[in-house]
Amino acid sequence: MQRACTLLMVLMLALPGAATASGRDDLTQISTIDALMSGVYDGDTTIGSLKDKGDFGLGTFNNLDGEMVLLDGRFYRVTASGSVEEPGPDTGTPFAAVTFFDADRTIPLDKGIDFRQFTAKTDRLLPTPNIFYAVKITGTFETVKARSVARQTSPYRPLEEVVKSQALFDFANVEGTIVGFRCPPFVKGVNVPGYHLHFLTADRKAGGHVLDFRVLKATLEIDYTNTFILVLPSDESFYAADLSPDRDKALKAVEK
Ligand code: ZN
Repeated sequence: MQRACTLLMVLMLALPGAATASGRDDLTQISTIDALMSGVYDGDTTIGSLKDKGDFGLGTFNNLDGEMVLLDGRFYRVTASGSVEEPGPDTGTPFAAVTFFDADRTIPLDKGIDFRQFTAKTDRLLPTPNIFYAVKITGTFETVKARSVARQTSPYRPLEEVVKSQALFDFANVEGTIVGFRCPPFVKGVNVPGYHLHFLTADRKAGGHVLDFRVLKATLEIDYTNTFILVLPSDESFYAADLSPDRDKALKAVEK
């Protein structure tokens, strides 16, 4: 982290309901989604160093080794075999987004609502599409369709290739928490515009990157986040990555 160069993009908007406590409403992101898409699967940031940047978030780990869920200050790795472990503080991450979660709004979700309907409903509730939101859905889900990715070895293939052999997990009548973010459209190339969600079961034994879900009984909490801090890696693989292509189409294929 000491070697990382930090680019600060400060978006200040006075919004009712948006907490302004210093630091707690910062979204800190490590690297860019396009770097990850292009196969930059190792980073020089440890998850231990992210503890003072947030208690909530998502991402992945070095070697693209599983899906990251950060919930209540604890990092979880959902492996491609479906198991969940808590990696040590020295574990590296090539891509992560974290914040301290303080709900600005709490909304009950109707039974039967799926990912697409959730997206439309939540978008209508937001005061603007132009800031970041941390979103947390806690409750019981009729279904959750999730995935994880297998640990990769260098030379790395692009993410679009890797996810062709992703592990899929189908949960039914499952209790748990969906953690994630809604990012504004202008982050294209930097993060995922729209919703990016990861799931962890209540017993912390399974989860993954959310492809779809259907609510049985759940509560949505939204944390308005006006400050975006982008930390770019200072290692060779990031420096050498070609980040000029538009990876929008590939990203859509990877996310859904
Ligand atoms: Zn993901």
